[in-house]
Amino acid sequence: MAVKETGVSYYGLSYPEHAKKDFEEMIAHNCNAVILALTEFDIDFWFPNIIEIAKVAKGMGLKVYLDTWGIGKWFGGEPTSLFLTNNPGNRQMSALTGEPLAAACFNTPAFRDYFYRIVEKLAEYVPCDGFFYDEPHYQLPKGIASITGGVADDWSCRCPVCQRKFEQQFGYPMPKMLTPEVVQFRENEALAIVRESAARFKAIRPDAKMICCVHATQNTYYVTERRGYDNWDKVGKAPEIDVFSTTIINYSLPQGFFVNITKRTVDIANKYGKGNQRWLMGYFNEPENLDRIKEVCHLYDDMGVESLFAWTYRGGHGTVLAAPHALELWDKLGEAYGEVLDPKYKIK
Ligand SMILES: [Zn+2]
Repeated sequence: MAVKETGVSYYGLSYPEHAKKDFEEMIAHNCNAVILALTEFDIDFWFPNIIEIAKVAKGMGLKVYLDTWGIGKWFGGEPTSLFLTNNPGNRQMSALTGEPLAAACFNTPAFRDYFYRIVEKLAEYVPCDGFFYDEPHYQLPKGIASITGGVADDWSCRCPVCQRKFEQQFGYPMPKMLTPEVVQFRENEALAIVRESAARFKAIRPDAKMICCVHATQNTYYVTERRGYDNWDKVGKAPEIDVFSTTIINYSLPQGFFVNITKRTVDIANKYGKGNQRWLMGYFNEPENLDRIKEVCHLYDDMGVESLFAWTYRGGHGTVLAAPHALELWDKLGEAYGEVLDPKYKIK
């Protein structure tokens, strides 16, 4: 048994005494870890109770990871962004039209300063085992290339800050075409904020595990999705990252896709001496037969996956993104976790 960690994400948290009951339910579903999905509003408004909730989870034996869910729309997720509400500028811009997008440009000093302050505040006050970089990406990624190969020409970010930085580094104005130099620039800048923030987090909490979760895409010779974190070697090699993680896969995709993504995830982690993590879809889309969840968990276990996470607690029950049979899915996930989690790591 390779699996040492099993968990779900948990959001909408406000009161420690209520969260405690949910954590008990997670442990009964064979989870030994939780990712607290914190919105910018949560971190701003509910901060005292976030600290208490993390203490409760840790006191019950759960590993606790913090996720600045949807921050600036740089990380994946549905939450709205306080940064975008409070800052009319510092947005990513479409390369072709020059229009501002509904996403913060994470290459601007304003957003980086904002993010570093949040990361340092979390590291300092919230008891936790690490931080989770949740699907970081540039805007417009899906238009560039989907797994079915659809392509488009537009990309981001070509805001004034990115243009200035590019020209300083390469000595000529930033092209409107996605040239190899632009690709290189976007990847380097995308990684820079991850590395700097991880270093700051670890400076405060040296034992923290920094998990970087990138989109599970094929990245073939012909089709690469331009989210900025598509070069897995580059991400896996970053010394500040401890765990290389890849996102959920829709159950309707063929088995070969599950095998391919998982093999490449484990290979990258092994190549750079990092931990690995794979995600399961535990909301919205469910397999026709819920037993498929067990098959996937066993496949990942057999392939050497150490950390298994699902988005999200109770199959998203009560949200617009709930799985059709959210609570049954949640129970099936719990059974699957029970079958693959090394008993040594199970919370008694
Ligand atoms: Zn920019």
